[in-house]
Amino acid sequence: MSILSTDVLVIGAGPAGAIAAALLKKAGVNVLVVEKQKFPRFVIGESLLPRCMMHLEEAELLEDVTAMNFQKKYGAKFVTETDSCDFNFSENFTPGWTWTWQVQRADFDHCLAKGIEKKGVKIMHETSVENVVFDGPNSTTELKLQNGETASVKAKFIIDASGYGRVIPRLLKLDKPSDLKPRNTLFTHVIDTKRPEGIEGNRITVVVVEQEIWCWIIPFSDGSTSVGFVGYPEFFEKWGNAPEEKIRAILASHPKTKDRFANVEMKFEPKSIGGYSIGTTKFFDEGFVLCGNATEFLDPVFSSGVTFAMESGSIAAKLTIKKLKGETVDWDTDYVKHMEKGIDTFRAYVEGWYNGDLHKIFFSKDINEDIKRQICSVLAGYVWDDTNPFVVRKSRIIKTLAKVIDLQE
Ligand code: FAD
Repeated sequence: MSILSTDVLVIGAGPAGAIAAALLKKAGVNVLVVEKQKFPRFVIGESLLPRCMMHLEEAELLEDVTAMNFQKKYGAKFVTETDSCDFNFSENFTPGWTWTWQVQRADFDHCLAKGIEKKGVKIMHETSVENVVFDGPNSTTELKLQNGETASVKAKFIIDASGYGRVIPRLLKLDKPSDLKPRNTLFTHVIDTKRPEGIEGNRITVVVVEQEIWCWIIPFSDGSTSVGFVGYPEFFEKWGNAPEEKIRAILASHPKTKDRFANVEMKFEPKSIGGYSIGTTKFFDEGFVLCGNATEFLDPVFSSGVTFAMESGSIAAKLTIKKLKGETVDWDTDYVKHMEKGIDTFRAYVEGWYNGDLHKIFFSKDINEDIKRQICSVLAGYVWDDTNPFVVRKSRIIKTLAKVIDLQE
């Protein structure tokens, strides 16, 4: 069995791991990435937020992603059978990037992985972490290699960016049930031959099916489109058994999806995921820090997952660099509180979405333009802007505004 050693072991080469590894390498830190799968590999999470762009820029990966010609995303549209509300990131309240991309994650994550390999980061693909033993801050990680053999890595610190794999949370039993209601999703990619012309056809669109059921339409630059439904588990039981039959029936049931996706060709059998909302009792300890989905995942409705993955990967890398230099690191203030602040802001929006308050606000006929710009900034991922009342007073301001709209209409 071979024994490897590194300063920092990064588990997982998704967006959180790639950003962390790029920044560590840039700072001259000895870093090794282990990734269970062979890339390109499928993962869901295709609509980015403008806040991601500064992380790609800082990690010097922006050029690599630009060369992929992904579909540019300038805003997001929300529609019901009768109403519609369009947010344009150019009208954001918070200064910063005003656009981003809609990406096929297999290609996007592969591009990031190749980008960091070009910088000299070693990624061991098809290598899974089986166990980790800590001795103070130092650790020995057992790996299962592609050929079935085992190896171990000695590291001074671990960044766990294993996403839904949740390696350290599972090993140390850190999983914390989410306080959000359980929801399921059913999705596929389709050949979108009836896509509307121009901006309308390229815009990410969220269709309200019922108060607690919605559908995403995420067009890609190659003419295909990701379509998925999210809702309480029982909703999916009434549309037949086979995944394709189910999704076709649901698409046919709503005026906003019926014609565009009638008889559409699907690129793969629709996939279903449930129970994805989860938290953790701890974000870090002496020998590790958790990033991205290995910490907390809320809900897909506002496309926040990859943004949190990159934000956490970036901060975790910077604090790890400080720690390795022997400087004091206040993980609680500089990492946990920062991440929780962003997550709590989005949690307020997720709750406001499912309890109907945000539907009232989005589809109100006379929503004030300043308010719209402030909400737009949150939807662009600027959830740490303390000058934005829709960040600072989140739940209260959403509830109050929804009540005012109720009284007016
Ligand atoms: P991942 O992208 O999951 O990467 C983790 C990597 O770790 C994987 O490559 C995996 O193979 C590897 N790994 C796992 N276990 C091991 C192991 N034992 N050893 C070695 N490697 C391992 N987010 C958005 O931003 N926009 C969206 O539109 C969006 N839509 C979503 C829709 C749904 C239905 C769901 C459920 C989520 C959605 N998300 C979305 C969230 C998004 O999928 C995640 O937040 C994001 O992928 C997290 O990135 P990550 O880097 O933390 O993890």
